[in-house]
Amino acid sequence: MTFKELGLSDSILKAIKEQGYDTPTPIQTKAIPTIIKGKDVLGAAQTGTGKTAGFTLPLLERLSQKKPPMAKKQIRALVLTPTRELAAQVAQSISDYGKFTPYRSTVVFGGVGINPQLATIRKGVDIVIATPGRLLDIASQKGIDFSRLEFLVLDEADRMLDMGFIHDIKKLIKLMPKNRQTLLFSATFSSEIKALASGMLNSPTLIEVAKENTTANQISQVVHLVDKRRKRELLSQLIKTKDWRQVLVFTRTKHGANKLTKELEEYGISASAIHGNKSQGARTKALASFKANEIRVLVATDIAARGIDIDQLPHVVNYELPNVPEDYVHRIGRTGRAGESGEAVSLVCVDEHKLLRDIEKFINADINKVDIEAFRPDPNIKAEPIQNGRGGGGNRGRGNSRNKPRSNSSHANNGGSHDGARSKNRNSNRNRQGQK
Ligand code: AMP
Repeated sequence: MTFKELGLSDSILKAIKEQGYDTPTPIQTKAIPTIIKGKDVLGAAQTGTGKTAGFTLPLLERLSQKKPPMAKKQIRALVLTPTRELAAQVAQSISDYGKFTPYRSTVVFGGVGINPQLATIRKGVDIVIATPGRLLDIASQKGIDFSRLEFLVLDEADRMLDMGFIHDIKKLIKLMPKNRQTLLFSATFSSEIKALASGMLNSPTLIEVAKENTTANQISQVVHLVDKRRKRELLSQLIKTKDWRQVLVFTRTKHGANKLTKELEEYGISASAIHGNKSQGARTKALASFKANEIRVLVATDIAARGIDIDQLPHVVNYELPNVPEDYVHRIGRTGRAGESGEAVSLVCVDEHKLLRDIEKFINADINKVDIEAFRPDPNIKAEPIQNGRGGGGNRGRGNSRNKPRSNSSHANNGGSHDGARSKNRNSNRNRQGQK
């Protein structure tokens, strides 16, 4: 199957060629013709499957087939994403794939000034890529007109619900015409996602490219059991002896990310941290340096890492296992993208054995445990409850302050990259997972 056979026109095919893609990925093969036909789509797509091109290419194609609206402020297509990083990345894809089309697009998210965003939309754009909180701010200032909206895409819908965006999304949808084409993508399918989808999609075509809740199979996964206090030493050794040049490392907390970054730097390994307490500028700079191979290690928390797309990222390290098994799938989805092979290494201490069991249950597989003799755990160390940011948490300390539903004010939702901000949905999900 070629991109041409999927029904894309020359201006888009030319841009695809420039990106160096020869063959459509499975999700692209399924999604592109369906979307071009005008069908709503419910996409069960994992990260790294080529999903972004799977919806942006036919979206551009559809725009070119229909007559544009007359008024400037009327937008034709909207893509909602959970985080600033993902919004910026989807915007980049649209601008790359739409390079030879006349459509103008812009990206809006919180954490930066609203006025330039309002001004750009006022001048006239066809496609807006946005995080829900900031878009709602713009809409409440009458800065955007959805009355001629033809397309709505919800990307990583599961994560948007986890982050408490459901109310903002519902308010935004009320402003949109009913006779639009809607596409909803999600890596996992909870009952909440299904409920959202049934309320907003019209007889959708279900497109699945991999089994639900499983990890992408081209990723090799390994666990090294190690004492907590020796994790930093083991990580440094792995990076140096295996000569890893580009490693994405996950910690559970912002504090943990900062601390590890500092320690790696002291050990002569260049590193930067990316998390919700960092300014947008600092995050963009860290990501750019990492992509340009100027720094070797990017240390990230789960929410900050959403949407990070680095071609052929070879190594992902779980320095600390995530509290929520789904996050493991999202984390390791950063490697082995679009058919490339990748390696996901988890450093697991005695405190985390329960988290590891939950993850293995969730992905329905045992992860290979590789023993490193010099770092064998001390059997005398007993498991302790996992301290997670302020006031405990983890799989054990439920019912603490982290379990409060987050505020839904547009202020709190700006941009959406709030590490540790979890909604009621997420917590009920977490409880369910932990009870297995
Ligand atoms: P996504 O799952 O949308 O985040 O895409 C993952 C990566 O695959 C991105 O780096 C894309 O540039 C790349 N990609 C998307 N489609 C193709 C394709 N047909 N061939 C090769 N690479 C692709």
